[in-house]
Amino acid sequence: MSTYSLKHLSDQILLDHLAALLAEDRKTAATLLAYIAEVDARQLYLPAACPSMHVYCVRVLHLAEDAAYKRITVARTARRFPAIFVAIADGRLHLSAVGLLAPYLTEDSADELIAAASHRTKAEIALLLAERYPRPDRPASLHSVPASAPPDGLAPGRVAGAPPPTTKVVPLAPQRFALELTIDQSTQDKLLRAQALLRHQLPSGDLAQVVDRALDSLLDDLERTKFAATPRPRAATARSTARSARHIPNDVKRAVHARDGEQCSFVSDEGVRCTSRSFLEFDHVDPVALGGQATVATVRLLCRSHNQYAAACTFGTDFMQARRAQAAMEADVILGLCGLGWSTSDARRAVALSAQLPATTLEQRLIAALAVLHPGSANRCSDGPTVAAWLHS
Ligand SMILES: [Zn+2]
Repeated sequence: MSTYSLKHLSDQILLDHLAALLAEDRKTAATLLAYIAEVDARQLYLPAACPSMHVYCVRVLHLAEDAAYKRITVARTARRFPAIFVAIADGRLHLSAVGLLAPYLTEDSADELIAAASHRTKAEIALLLAERYPRPDRPASLHSVPASAPPDGLAPGRVAGAPPPTTKVVPLAPQRFALELTIDQSTQDKLLRAQALLRHQLPSGDLAQVVDRALDSLLDDLERTKFAATPRPRAATARSTARSARHIPNDVKRAVHARDGEQCSFVSDEGVRCTSRSFLEFDHVDPVALGGQATVATVRLLCRSHNQYAAACTFGTDFMQARRAQAAMEADVILGLCGLGWSTSDARRAVALSAQLPATTLEQRLIAALAVLHPGSANRCSDGPTVAAWLHS
């Protein structure tokens, strides 16, 4: 008899089994979330050649994208507020409830909110949150929609309070996709101008072909700036190779780009390569700090996650956390200097030149940078706020 054929069961047994299975399913769901939270916290997706926990859930665990997103969100929230694991296990909260509550949970409010949301539907929880955390009315907005309205009942030119539609790319047929997006007046003007200027080559004015040509130009530009791509490459000169140790010559960038194929080159111990094509960065296989050189053989493309992972493997997690904290403080100092009236380039230069000065707090770093920019007037910019005023603003 098939496990899935239940016709032989009585009504009462059917209902009892259903309740028992659901109770078991909730306990499993809570345990599963605890595992997701721990794998996420340990970043175990990185050695598995995934740039993020979401990619790991989709590509390795084969969860659907939205299911992965929801579980990771709930797992991270439950890691902060462990009572959520228990509430999910005993059926008081469903995953959607945690997603709704997450932005409002604090150490002070968590227990009370979890209790208030127990055994509530999504709609009831949304109402509960609206009563406790009222938000201002949304302004009415007018959206133009295609004359051939989609089958969800939207009428052309209707007045609605809903946000504008998000960008969508929908497969229609092999090699054919529908692109739907909202653009502002400036983009519309550019689109119509490009269409008009292309009329000799493209008499039909087909917008799909106009967008295709625009993307060709954009990609040429991006390849040139990110990977030094050029139709007429020049050999490396003595000047270009004599720069700082971190500098990667353009001929090396081109060769690495051609070899790594515009994809993160990290490969797991199992031989799986990271599929990320976003946030790509050139990485020295042997760190510059340890004498690494910028050659084709010793430079690779890594996504940001694996670049940081490689650095953590070499220098240790504590060292990298200290580096990130230092970078965050330097970013704050640059922001502060710009707020005091200095240009971004001057602010960056001052932060670099003052890096060796003794300073541990944000205020000390800011004063040290100001001393480099304007010796003798580190506490006040001529027509800007004082350092103390900026720090406490
Ligand atoms: Zn990667």
